Formats: sequence, structure tokens, C-alpha cells
Amino acid sequence: MSCVNDSVCKLCRRENLKLFLKGDRCYSDKCSFDRRPYPPGQHGQSRLKFSEFALQLREKQKTKRWYGLSEKQFRRYFKEANASKELTGTALLKFLEMRLDNVVYALGFGSSRREARQLVRHNHILVNGKRANIPSILVNKGDVIQIADKSKDQTRIQASVQSVARRSIPAWLEADHGKLSGTIKDLPTRDDVTVPSEENMIVEYYSR
Ligand code: SF4
Repeated sequence: MSCVNDSVCKLCRRENLKLFLKGDRCYSDKCSFDRRPYPPGQHGQSRLKFSEFALQLREKQKTKRWYGLSEKQFRRYFKEANASKELTGTALLKFLEMRLDNVVYALGFGSSRREARQLVRHNHILVNGKRANIPSILVNKGDVIQIADKSKDQTRIQASVQSVARRSIPAWLEADHGKLSGTIKDLPTRDDVTVPSEENMIVEYYSR
């Protein structure tokens, strides 16, 4: 079991950032990044000099892993952002924030983005009263996200809501944890984006 935890936690150590992939464990003294805050591997503690390309690659990987996406999915968002009228990097981050699985996590219904994605896939989430089981759909202003009635007693959802105080709910969302629902008050701005990402470097990476 420890090897499963370690393999996910290695991503945080590789990106030099807590990616919060393991729910409760990320806030405990078992967090591998807190215990060993250097990259994994033989040369993890060496001082390495990174090329411009390597820095851009790391920025892209960090952001992709923060949201738990594959390269194919991430590149698709980049293409859509590139075609939008907004600054490409800003549009990219906003698309990622607006994914339903990210919103379910941000509202506190899942203890990690991975768990939130599972809740969506397993039909535990309603959007505007209708079942929504596609994690990648983008929310809109005014949407109401709810836990389905049959799922409200689920232990993992209750546990996540009870522990959500340790992370703040983004200002563009409004959560009602009593009713297990949330509202999209507004679409996110660049300032609302939670991942500490230098989006210009991602744009440069894909524009080579
Ligand atoms: Fe592992 Fe979470 Fe710590 Fe990352 S933040 S190293 S996923 S426990």
C-alpha cells in the first residue's frame, strides 16, 4: 500500500509543490512532501541547473498534475484556450478551474480531485437538478451543483465536508454544506485560480 501512496506522492516531490492528491493524508504528518521536500531519485538532493525548456516542461507538468489530467486532455484545453479571444494562458487556467470535478472538489464534496471525479462518474452529482456524470463538463454562472439525495449519507462525502474548513472555498463559488449544494456565483477570474502556475511558460512550451 505504501508503494501506491509513494507513487502518487512522488509527483508532488517531483514538482516541488503539494498537489493535494491524497485527501486527508496531505494534511497529516504522513505527507511525503513535508517529510522529504526534494525530488525523488538518486540525484534528488543535488543542485541541478535547469534549461529554459526544462522549466517550461515542469510548469506544464505541475499544472496538468494539479488537475489530474492526461497529456491528451491538457493539450485539448490548450488548443481551446488558444482559439479563444482571451489571453491563452489565462483562458487555459480558467477552463481547468471550471471543470465539474474541480468544482465538486473546490466546494468540499470530495477530499481530492480524484475523489471528486469519482463522485461525478458514479452519478452522485446533480447540476441544475439533472444527473451529470462527465467530469470534464464546464460549469456556467448560476449553475447549482448538488449531491444526489440517495448519496447524501455517504461517509466519504460527509467526512470531506466536515474537514473542508482547512481549505477555503474559492470566492466565485458559494457552498451550502447543510444542503450539500453549491452555486456558481460568477465565472472564475485569473486571481481565483488556485494552482500556483506561470501560465506564460506553458504557452511557450506548446508554442515551440
Ligand atoms: Fe502525498 Fe498529498 Fe503530500 Fe502530495 S500533498 S506528497 S499527495 S500526501
